[in-house]
Amino acid sequence: MAVRATVSRFPIDSDALEASGLPWGLTVTPFASKDETGIGPAYGSNGHTLPRCENCYAYFNTYCELDQWAWTCSLCGTLNGLPSDAIARYSYPHDSIPEMSSSFVDLELPLDGSEEEMTQARPVYLAAIDLSSSEEFLELTKSALLAALEALSPGSLFGLATFSHKIGLYNVQGPIPVVKNVFIPPDAESKLPLELEDAMPLLQFLAPVETCKDRIAAALETLRPITSWERSSGAAQGIDGVLMGGRGFGTAMEALFNYLGSEFGNTFALARVFAFISGPPDYGRGQLDTSRYGEQYASKRVDADRALLPEQTPFYKDLATIAVQSGVCVDLFAVTNEYTDLASLKFLSIESGGSLFLYSSTDDSTLPQDMFRMLNRPYAFNCVLRLRTSTEFKPLHSYGHFFPDPQYENLQHIICCDSYATYAYDFDFANNTGFSRHSREPPVVQIAFQYTVVVPPEGLQNSELPSSNRGKHLLQRRLRIRTMQFETAQNINEIYDSVDPEVVLSLLVHKVILVSLEDGVREGRALLHDWLVILTAQYNDAYNLVQYKNGNKSMSSQIDITFSQCPQLEPLPRLVFALLRNPLLRFHEEGVHPDYRIYLQCLFSVLEPSSLHCGIYPSLTSYSTPDKQAYPRHSLSRAALITSGSPIFFLDAYTTLIVFYTSTADPSLPFPPPQDCLLRKNINMVKQGRSITPKLMFIREGKDDATAFENYLIEEQDVDGSGFASARGFVSFLDDVSQSVAEYMK
Ligand SMILES: [Zn+2]
Repeated sequence: MAVRATVSRFPIDSDALEASGLPWGLTVTPFASKDETGIGPAYGSNGHTLPRCENCYAYFNTYCELDQWAWTCSLCGTLNGLPSDAIARYSYPHDSIPEMSSSFVDLELPLDGSEEEMTQARPVYLAAIDLSSSEEFLELTKSALLAALEALSPGSLFGLATFSHKIGLYNVQGPIPVVKNVFIPPDAESKLPLELEDAMPLLQFLAPVETCKDRIAAALETLRPITSWERSSGAAQGIDGVLMGGRGFGTAMEALFNYLGSEFGNTFALARVFAFISGPPDYGRGQLDTSRYGEQYASKRVDADRALLPEQTPFYKDLATIAVQSGVCVDLFAVTNEYTDLASLKFLSIESGGSLFLYSSTDDSTLPQDMFRMLNRPYAFNCVLRLRTSTEFKPLHSYGHFFPDPQYENLQHIICCDSYATYAYDFDFANNTGFSRHSREPPVVQIAFQYTVVVPPEGLQNSELPSSNRGKHLLQRRLRIRTMQFETAQNINEIYDSVDPEVVLSLLVHKVILVSLEDGVREGRALLHDWLVILTAQYNDAYNLVQYKNGNKSMSSQIDITFSQCPQLEPLPRLVFALLRNPLLRFHEEGVHPDYRIYLQCLFSVLEPSSLHCGIYPSLTSYSTPDKQAYPRHSLSRAALITSGSPIFFLDAYTTLIVFYTSTADPSLPFPPPQDCLLRKNINMVKQGRSITPKLMFIREGKDDATAFENYLIEEQDVDGSGFASARGFVSFLDDVSQSVAEYMK
């Protein structure tokens, strides 16, 4: 569990918080195996016997004062009696007891009754493939699923389904694959005429991976796109014989979730559905009206971004609830350059704990690699995340892909979570007092994360198990707790010196995504601009940098816009500028596709702070040869490139990696860089540590189209995209901010 706070020294009260102009909060990556400094938890068992405070329910931790019979809660100060079993346990040498030796513990919990019955639940995977698509789409989907089959552990069950104007269910357990079809009624109200269970019993449909791999592959080979002839002769005939489309995605998903739901809690504890879609659902339930995209393009008067960001129907949000109730997590793979309205579809994946992937073309899609990578990493499911604080402050908002508990405040449910998934909180003071200036009690945050993992057979010590359990998957419930003490800042300089700019960026990104979803992209941009103006003003005020005299004539020239007195704040203007230049916040008129914007919103709101930094302000390094690095960091400006004189650049924009050879590079330098060189090693290292597969490009200036690379050189671009390459981009942005700061300070 990695935790990073915006400031390591907390403001003393709400006045100090306001005066700082900074967001106050933290990010947490609960299933990360290490903490933010690379240290792992102390492991143990019997998490249910860990003492809890009877006042605030915090767990006992290393910051609590311990007497022979009692302990004092480090969060609320309550004196609690020690349970008798703990008295005995805590009298042993402390380093053998996890909660006594580390403030970061990971303890096994006993399974509750219902979980106990299904400790041998098998992992279930279901692929649902869009046949209302093209040969290329199906080829790509096949190779992704073949990659997936290699990644699935023995003992997993796999089901293959297709959808179009009908749902196809494959039985691959016999000598030859057999498909059963169920036709989907074309209108948005009707349900399926037949339950899928009646078409094919679920346990015939779900096949053991290890024995049926070849037949699953054979069944995949038989998939063909639905032809228009089939569609018109099927049920897809509308009024007056008009073809009504044939992608019955909504009905198919609803039916498949209900189908799986019957075995939830028996065969499986979590089923993952991979939905491959090549365009908008246009048939049956949950069909989407894609004409709204065209209308927005035609009309310039409406804020197109505002109109296209909200969902057009609650259908998929409601469907996500059904998925969750059926124990299903949905990963949505959209391979399309058509407007698909991901704004409506996204809920299916984000609410069920899955991922949303968007590939604009089948040609350069990294779908098979993404699939393999996703299945090869561990995940936790059925998770509960709870953040507690000491009494002086409290969590205000929470951000990320979870859903709040209907009953308890500050309790979040996460259906499925990998080691990258990151969430954020911001804080507020509980009252006007704040932290007492003279108190010896520092602010404390405690994060508890309860989760289940499937332990594959090879992960268990076979000797410890009865022989009947060997070779089977087991469920394990665990409780991970991290307790952190912070300091308070005696003055504003101490706050500024303790800033983590990447975490500040994370909170800003969450806030602007929320604002743009509610009020449009324009408002999101305005919020960000105003935030930087206020921060700059507060900073200049705090350091007394501006002399108020002579009617403030030269005020803006005195303003320190680069935060030269505070290295921790220095990166922020650049990050804000880059965020304004990011497709996340660029205008529709600049050609940002609404589906791509939604994809970025979903991606950016789960990234941990350093990855997000990379996505917003890509890192640019240079090499003098493929084996020798020149500079570790360049600003994203053409001028910086030219003055550095390096022949090779490597840009990492999180989703894209670009190797760029300048036109002046020595022709004897090998291109592309050879497999065994330092640059390749670095590229491979970056690729391995990433949640998605970045796209890798090689570009030679003067020989290849360099637009993809040049677009990332943002510092010469205009912040609002009204003019390109004005050579004053970032500089004039700073001028503009400093004018606004002068206005604000008056
Ligand atoms: Zn307490």
